[in-house]
Amino acid sequence: MSESTAPARAEIVVDLAAVHDNVAALRAHVAPAAFMAVVKADGYGHGMVEVARAAREAGADWLGVATLDEARALRAAGDDGRVLCWLGVPGEVYDDLVVGDVDLSAYSVAQLDEIRAAASRVGRAARVQLKIDTGLARGGATPGEWPGLVAAARDAEEAGDLRVTGIWSHLVASDDPDHPANAAQEAVFAEALAVAETVGLQPEVRHLANSAAALLRPGARHDLVRCGLAIYGLDPAPGVTTELMSDLGLVPAMTVQGSLVRVKPVTAGSGVSYGHTWVAEHDTTLGLVPVGYADGVPRAASPGAEVWVAGRRRPLRGRVCMDQLLVDLGDDDEVAAGEPFVLLGPGTRGEPTAQDWAEAIGTISYEVVSGLGGRLTRRHVCRSGEPV
Ligand SMILES: *Cc1c(COP(=O)(O)O)cnc(C)c1O
Repeated sequence: MSESTAPARAEIVVDLAAVHDNVAALRAHVAPAAFMAVVKADGYGHGMVEVARAAREAGADWLGVATLDEARALRAAGDDGRVLCWLGVPGEVYDDLVVGDVDLSAYSVAQLDEIRAAASRVGRAARVQLKIDTGLARGGATPGEWPGLVAAARDAEEAGDLRVTGIWSHLVASDDPDHPANAAQEAVFAEALAVAETVGLQPEVRHLANSAAALLRPGARHDLVRCGLAIYGLDPAPGVTTELMSDLGLVPAMTVQGSLVRVKPVTAGSGVSYGHTWVAEHDTTLGLVPVGYADGVPRAASPGAEVWVAGRRRPLRGRVCMDQLLVDLGDDDEVAAGEPFVLLGPGTRGEPTAQDWAEAIGTISYEVVSGLGGRLTRRHVCRSGEPV
C-alpha cells in the first residue's frame, strides 16, 4: 500500500460530489418536473457510469443517452432505473434493450416496426417515446409524418407490442431566449401532443427542455427536463444563465491537471514550436505541458488559451502539438520541471475554466469537455479530493 505510483503525466479529475450536488440543485429548481441526467458521450467526458451513479444518488429520475451501446453500458453497470436512448440507426437490433426495459425513441414508422419486431421476438412490450421534429430538422418525425407515426404507435399499443411512454422534441436555440424558434417550437409541440391525444395515446412524460431551457423557460419543462451540460457545472448559455447557475451553486466538476515536463529559457528572437508561428520578443521561460491535440486540446487553442502554473495564468505559445504544448512563464524563475499545472478547472483558484477555453478557441464548453480524452487518465474523487 505504501508503494508510490508514478505521478500522472496529465489527468482528468472529476469531482463526483459536484455532479451530485449540481443534480440535486437542478432537480429541486425544476420540480415538479421530473429530472433526466444526460450522460451520453461518456458523461460529456466525465465518465458515464460514475456520473450516472452520482446523479442517481442525487435523485435523477431518468438517465439520457444517445446510442444503444451507451444504454447497454448503463445496464451492464447495474443501473436499473429509467433510461431513455434516442439514436438508433436503421437495422439496429433492439431485443436486449426491450428485455432491459430501456425506453427507446422512435422517429419513424419504419423504426417503430423494428422495435415492434424486437418486442415480439422477446415476448415483451417495448417502451417507446415518439419524437416530433418541431424545427431542429434533425431527428424526429416531421409534423407531416406525425399523424401516421402516432396512429402506427397506437395500433402497436393495441396489439400489445409496445407502450408509448413519452412524446418529446428538442429545441433549436434554448440558449437564446429571444430567438423566435423557441415559441414556434413550443406551439408545434403543443399541436403534436394534441394530435397524439386524439388517437388515444397517454404518454407518461412529455419533454422538450435541455439545460438552458430547463433554466430559462419554465413553460418548456412539461413533465421532464433533460439536463446535460448544467449537471457538469458548466454554463449552457454564457451570459444568460451564468447568474442563475451561480445562485443555484452549480460548480464545474472537471479539472485537467498534471506536471510540467521541462522548463527552459529562450532568448529574444527565438521561434517556438512548429512553423515558428510565435517568436519571443523578450528573453523568457517556457514550460512544457505534456498534453496535445491527440488528447483533445484543439490546435486552435493557441494563441488565446491559458494554463494555470504557480498561481498565475500562463499563455500558450506557438502551435499546440500532438502530445504537448508550451506556455510562457515569463521571468518567473521559481518554476521548475515537475511544477503542477491546471489546464482547466472550476475556476475557484483563478485557473481557466472550460468556458475560458471555449472562448479562446471559438467554440462551446460542450465541445471542450467532451473532446478531452486521448491519453489523459481519469480519476473520480469527492469534494475533499478523496477517492470515491
Ligand atoms: C445532449 C442532449 C441533451 C442535453 O443537452 P444540454 O444542453 O447539455 O442540457 C438533451 N436532449 C437531447 C436530445 C440531447 O441530444
